[in-house]
Amino acid sequence: MRPARALIDLDALRHNYRLAREVSGARALAVVKADAYGHGAVRCAQALAELADGFAVACIEEALELRAAGIRAPILLLEGFFEADELALIAEHELWCVVHSAWQLEAIEHARLARPLQVWLKLDSGMHRVGFHPADYRAAHQRLLACTQVAKVVLMSHFARADEPDCPRTAEQLALFMAAREGLAAEISLCNSPAVLGWSQLLPPHSTDWVRPGIMLYGASPFAQPQALAERLRPVMTLESKIISVRELPAGEPVGYGARFVSEWPTRVGVVAMGYADGYPRHATSGTPVAVDGRLTRLIGRVSMDMLTVDLTDLPQAGLGSRVELWGAQVPASAVASAADTIPYQLFCNLKRVPRSYTQTR
Ligand SMILES: *Cc1c(COP(=O)(O)O)cnc(C)c1O
Repeated sequence: MRPARALIDLDALRHNYRLAREVSGARALAVVKADAYGHGAVRCAQALAELADGFAVACIEEALELRAAGIRAPILLLEGFFEADELALIAEHELWCVVHSAWQLEAIEHARLARPLQVWLKLDSGMHRVGFHPADYRAAHQRLLACTQVAKVVLMSHFARADEPDCPRTAEQLALFMAAREGLAAEISLCNSPAVLGWSQLLPPHSTDWVRPGIMLYGASPFAQPQALAERLRPVMTLESKIISVRELPAGEPVGYGARFVSEWPTRVGVVAMGYADGYPRHATSGTPVAVDGRLTRLIGRVSMDMLTVDLTDLPQAGLGSRVELWGAQVPASAVASAADTIPYQLFCNLKRVPRSYTQTR
């Protein structure tokens, strides 16, 4: 059997969820969209089921997968519905529904539903992607309250730059949100992972009822630089494989496609069963960290579809069959991501072909 696999530590997932709640002092919807960022939505939701206040996903298809697996907790659809005829299923399965656009509001007003909905009304406080303009927010809120099809409205917005610790934009977005919701008696929800970890002090106490952590649940830091609270996260995924071939090259020999690496001195090269078809980033540069038998070394040469090459020159004890960690406890996914000019979110979401196995102590 090919040795490439992703180990998912469900205890670490629960630890990170608890940290999100502790730091924010709020209830937390565990964001498990995109198959729990590549970690397996059903298994992750089941592992959090006793603990979590609810879940959040991108679309009804993802929510129904969780319901079919027996998840009874609240599930928020982060973009609401894409077509009005989803509303009947949303009501039937008691899903919570973001409303970010006027057409959605109208569809709810015209719907006849078996049960009233819980709606999360989104303000565009500066992300400029979806959400109501501040000038239209109150009116939208009033119209929802006037609907017999609506049982409850939560007010929400989303930060664009919360991962930048010194950026004033987050405080500006917060001020805009607070002004728009002035006088509206409703629960609110603002924070994604970087906001939970980096901006909880900025938020007035008890000003946020619900947080929406995603990447932090999986143990990757949303920040480019070290951050105190992010240090307390435990990585959930270990992407690992083995050395399947070793060769000794003299100085001046190229390795892999395009000869992107040429040995400067006698070099011992290990070939690892892992490639971009597994989701390992093809753009990772020579020097990207990797651990072999628990010792750090570096990627060399171009990543190919099914294999990649690592430098074993300083690891004489490593060889055929040695365990290789591509990311996990020793090699932070964010370090690999920055070496490949991307973010850990994308690394996790790109994972494919690699079988996942799950560990937990209870
Ligand atoms: C994906 C998403 C989140 C989670 O973001 P992270 O940065 O992964 O914590 C929160 N809120 C909304 C609206 C989202 O789409």
